[in-house]
Amino acid sequence: MRRAARQLSGWGRYPLESAECLRPERISQAEKVCTNSHNIIARGLGRSFGDASLNNDHDVLICERLNRLCSFDRPTGVLECEAGVSLADIIQFALPKGYFLPVTPSTPHISIGGAIAGDVYGCNQHLEGSFCQFVDKIELLTANGRVVTCSRERQEDLFWATIGGLGLTGIILRAQIRLLPVETAYIDANYTKISDVDQLFLQLEKNQHNCAYTMAWLDGMAGSKHAGRSLLIQGDHARYEQLTGKMQRRPLRPKRRRDISIPDMWPSWTLNSFTVGCLNKMYYWRHLQHARIVKYQRFFYPFGHLHNWNRLYGKKGFLRYECVIPWKQAATALQKIQEFFDQKSIPCFWAMLKLCRDDENQGLLSFTRAGVSLTFDLPRDDELITQLHNLNDNIIEWDGRLSLVSDAFMRPSDLRHMYPQLEDFLELKQRIDPQNIFQSSLARRLGMIPQ
Ligand SMILES: Cc1cc2nc3c(=O)[nH]c(=O)nc-3n(C[C@H](O)[C@H](O)[C@H](O)COP(=O)(O)OP(=O)(O)OC[C@H]3O[C@@H](n4cnc5c(N)ncnc54)[C@H](O)[C@@H]3O)c2cc1C
Repeated sequence: MRRAARQLSGWGRYPLESAECLRPERISQAEKVCTNSHNIIARGLGRSFGDASLNNDHDVLICERLNRLCSFDRPTGVLECEAGVSLADIIQFALPKGYFLPVTPSTPHISIGGAIAGDVYGCNQHLEGSFCQFVDKIELLTANGRVVTCSRERQEDLFWATIGGLGLTGIILRAQIRLLPVETAYIDANYTKISDVDQLFLQLEKNQHNCAYTMAWLDGMAGSKHAGRSLLIQGDHARYEQLTGKMQRRPLRPKRRRDISIPDMWPSWTLNSFTVGCLNKMYYWRHLQHARIVKYQRFFYPFGHLHNWNRLYGKKGFLRYECVIPWKQAATALQKIQEFFDQKSIPCFWAMLKLCRDDENQGLLSFTRAGVSLTFDLPRDDELITQLHNLNDNIIEWDGRLSLVSDAFMRPSDLRHMYPQLEDFLELKQRIDPQNIFQSSLARRLGMIPQ
């Protein structure tokens, strides 16, 4: 098994920490490693933004080689696989057979382990819920070295703590998930230009149940004067008869876009207010206001073919500010957050909005709740974290919360205010992992592990 001291970061490139990295090829090796480690965290494909999959100066179990598909039941679409399988692998395997992911985040380059431990969500959260709604069973390697199978019926409390549990309950080894049957690999998409916050929320209220998928790209550089300038993006899986002749020849196997790899050579100022302001204007005006059939990649992952795009932020990296705000407060929150960035001259290079619902059953630390999720990518500078702490106070006032897989800067008090089921989670953790074998830099920073 590969073992090496390495520098690691999340997708935001901050913080950068050292760790002893272990990369098992087989589940039996992963089991052996964990039995011998006193302080370890699982890492999937490193697409969380902050320090959720870091463990400064301790062990990190990289699960990317635990990537075998175990079984697939074609009539029902039930798939069993190892935790290192990526969502991209699943699409490649299942789409030609007429199945797609029931929930997808804006990148397919994450692992099943990361999707479960982060309870990820997509632009159908308000109708279908988050990833956990389609997870039937998890095989978890626990602190006492035993592999436990948990589900809604068996070891229910462990199941709901592991969903969204950031790897702190153990190592997910395998999972069983349900896929979604589709006729084609295309989306019947609709793009509507929106000029301000009021129009955006009016359209969202009116149209949120019309389509399977709804999201809005926000012009993060629009400033407080044009807050809410956005593109409302909606879509449904296209049916076979909606495709044109060329598409009908390969309805489930559209041609892939050529991948482009961004080299690691860009200074921190490559993306700046001027360049991004121009790009955003182009993006906004380029979209014609009508419906069209697009490949699923273009709809769900518009930048999926740009590998390592995080390098464009340079070595300083960026912070993702991702919050969910109850519907009643959401329009005010969007306006105020854009005003806040404007006043503090914080440039925002990427911003998205998605709709969310509450689920009766969710992970104890799952992020989503009824309302609107807002995501802002902000280039990091020395003052940014302090400024964001001030903004966190507003999020708490609006009864919102920040995403833990995006986080690199929250304080322990923020966590306690935002996650009311934290104590239940910690109580269960204490029961199943009294020595705190599973810990991460994030868990220590947020006071989830006694120091
Ligand atoms: C471009 C981009 C777009 C994104 N869009 C979305 C989005 O739309 N919605 C959304 O919800 N998220 C989104 N994310 C975030 C991403 O989906 C989550 O952070 C996801 O958890 C990353 O999975 P990963 O395999 O890379 O895991 P990592 O980043 O390696 O780890 C994330 C967490 O999962 C735990 N973990 C990983 N594997 C295991 C395992 N085998 N057992 C136990 N714990 C494990 C880690 O300990 C860590 O706490 C996006 C990320 C990127 C880079």
